[in-house]
Amino acid sequence: MIVYTLKCENNHGFEEWFTSMAAFDDLTATGKLACPECDSTRIEKAPMAPSVSGSKESQYDRCQSMAEAPPCAQACGGGCMPR
Ligand SMILES: [Zn+2]
Repeated sequence: MIVYTLKCENNHGFEEWFTSMAAFDDLTATGKLACPECDSTRIEKAPMAPSVSGSKESQYDRCQSMAEAPPCAQACGGGCMPR
């Protein structure tokens, strides 16, 4: 079994387990895989990310990766200051 981090056309991120890479291709090709939030069947693999979009933690991570960016403190509500 392998787990994929997936993303629908509306940018909802979620994870699904598959028996194989071929199983993923088969399910998406036949429209049997749908987003749990909006039921969209236009699903693609997302780059491996440690967190789900929208959470405070992911915003923090994003700011960490662009630590030099001045708007950092605003984006995080002040919780993450540039180093
Ligand atoms: Zn969706």
